[in-house]
Amino acid sequence: MTRLSSDDFRALVTAMASAVADNAERLTELDRAIGDGDHGANMQRGFDAVAADLDTLAAKPLPEALKAAGMKLVMTVGGASGPLVGTFFMTLGKELPEEFDRAGFTEAFSKAVAAVAARGKSHQGQKTLLDVLFPMQAALEDGKSVGEIATIAGQAAEATIPILATRGRASFLGERSIGHMDPGAASVALLASVAASMLEQ
Ligand code: ADP
Ligand code: MG
Ligand code: MG
Repeated sequence: MTRLSSDDFRALVTAMASAVADNAERLTELDRAIGDGDHGANMQRGFDAVAADLDTLAAKPLPEALKAAGMKLVMTVGGASGPLVGTFFMTLGKELPEEFDRAGFTEAFSKAVAAVAARGKSHQGQKTLLDVLFPMQAALEDGKSVGEIATIAGQAAEATIPILATRGRASFLGERSIGHMDPGAASVALLASVAASMLEQ
């Protein structure tokens, strides 16, 4: 059984917020190619808001903290990605018990991915952040290590490059969406690598 302490939660959010800030320009650049060029700024606004609320959040039990962080992301990220990334964390908080083992985490993660897909009315293969979330879920179910899962997430983001977008703004470009990495997929891979490097320690 594992329990993520409030200090762990604090460190995780801080590391995610700083990784998003460091990568905001790159994420926005990706969104400039096949979207409206705001994805990095959207994510940074959201994670900055969560980080600013960290004292309040970290005082809550983990499930409540995750739910509150997800709600904050929905309210502050905006765009198409806000409700999706926010739904992921809200559902994870709703489904994850305070103490959990790998099977419990995997189950909560799967439900969070399903909630994102329902919210986005989308599925795998449409060049969205789900193209990283589903392979991560599969890797969790396959018993892969935390480091392997982060690597798989990075490869999955790369693998969105040749996909034709059929959801989100990028789908308006049709064939011209081919040849670019999906910004939302890049964000999820980034968050996965931050989580992995923290959890490995
Ligand atoms: P917006 O497109 O409103 O400007 P962002 O730029 O912040 O929002 O986010 C764009 C990202 O959101 C895309 O790269 C894609 O990964 C994700 N996305 C958009 N629509 C959907 C959807 N229906 N299902 C899943 N992911 C989506
Ligand atoms: Mg955008
Ligand atoms: Mg936008």
